[in-house]
Amino acid sequence: QPVLAIVGRPNVGKSTLVNRIIGRREAVVQDVPGVTRDRVAYDALWNGRKFTVVDTGGWEPDATGMMASVAAQAELAMQTADAVLLVVDASVGATTTDEAVAKVLRRSKAPVLLVANKVDDERLMAEVASLWSLGLGEPMPVSGLHGRGSGDVLDKILEVLPETPRDTFGANTGGPRRVALVGRPNVGKSSLLNRLTGENRSVVDSVAGTTVDPVDSLVELDDEVWRFVDTAGLRKRVNFASGAEYYASLRTKAAIESAEVAVVLLDAGEPISEQDLRVLTMVVESGRACVLAFNKWDLVDEDRRNAMVRELERGLVRVPWAERVNISALTGRSVRKIAPALRTALDSWDTRVPTGRLNSWLTDLIAATPPPVRGGKQPKVLFATQAATRPPTFVLFTTGFLEAGYRRYIERKLREEFGFEGSPVRVSVRVRE
Ligand code: GDP
Repeated sequence: QPVLAIVGRPNVGKSTLVNRIIGRREAVVQDVPGVTRDRVAYDALWNGRKFTVVDTGGWEPDATGMMASVAAQAELAMQTADAVLLVVDASVGATTTDEAVAKVLRRSKAPVLLVANKVDDERLMAEVASLWSLGLGEPMPVSGLHGRGSGDVLDKILEVLPETPRDTFGANTGGPRRVALVGRPNVGKSSLLNRLTGENRSVVDSVAGTTVDPVDSLVELDDEVWRFVDTAGLRKRVNFASGAEYYASLRTKAAIESAEVAVVLLDAGEPISEQDLRVLTMVVESGRACVLAFNKWDLVDEDRRNAMVRELERGLVRVPWAERVNISALTGRSVRKIAPALRTALDSWDTRVPTGRLNSWLTDLIAATPPPVRGGKQPKVLFATQAATRPPTFVLFTTGFLEAGYRRYIERKLREEFGFEGSPVRVSVRVRE
């Protein structure tokens, strides 16, 4: 169900408003009695429609001061929620913090509603009108105290809230999926591209480039057209003048950044080199999906295969999750396995785990294996949300720091439960003070 995030400075009356939104008879509060203080997410029901309300109140993501902290809240809200509600205290007017937050929210793709709270008195209507200056549209006056205006706010929420959670973070822009073919020199990139384009009938070559230098190649593999980005350099042998290596690495990086998935070519006949690792690091840091293609498999014999097992374990510690294919660009062996591997990796990269499912799974996981005690205190995990797809990014809201080991444990369990083969997964922790 769609998520509404409530943001605002402390003491503007967020909690009162949240209670108004969910505190009706129809409201279903997903909570355990006795832990009311820790509640951050609630199920709400209004006019037959269900949505989740996330109260960002009280989160202090860092110690950089209130303005930064509230702005960070807003940033997070607009990244995770389907709609954002900013609460401002009309009896005080817009403060510099409110302005900073509004500035962040004006960039929001999700709809933003502006609520002027504490309008307990008609005389405050002039203050309410002045909140137009925040650039977030019409301020809606409410009184958390009297309950006045909250029905209107709820109606407005339903108006702007999508029926289903949006696919945040660059939903597929349409068109062929973008693939970067990367790897150190001589690993076989151009051989592979030639084979892929040469073997397939409906190839449209050299598209979308500048008139001088065609950049991408469209290739049909396995009944699907793929856009191999920045292949110009692979087809033309560039002159290796001085600085060429630096230039090549910039170009590799740019190709990865403009792609959704990277095919990293490795030479199966040779140990993983520093140069290979640099390319892999770029892929890992980019957050793109990844397929490792072990090329020149025609040169691999029994001894080499045995040696590889150990090498790979060490060399690929950062990408144990990557899809793998063993191919030969020379003979064409298993080259057709690349497309299914790309598809698996991209499916994982696009995966969204519904908030409800994520939290019920996490609750069981944490009950079975609670986070280690730190400084005599047991950190509690309050709530988790998938803040983004591409790659799947999870945020855990907790009452204390989680050790790196425990975060890795959660990531491992996430992968066991939900898959994500071929895609990186990010797990971050926000501590609620
Ligand atoms: P690039 O620099 O990554 O584009 O690499 P190239 O495609 O130019 O290949 C470098 C060399 O490796 C060439 O001599 C290719 O013929 C050879 N090569 C490429 N793929 C294979 C393969 O699968 N098996 C074998 N044995 N040689 C290959």
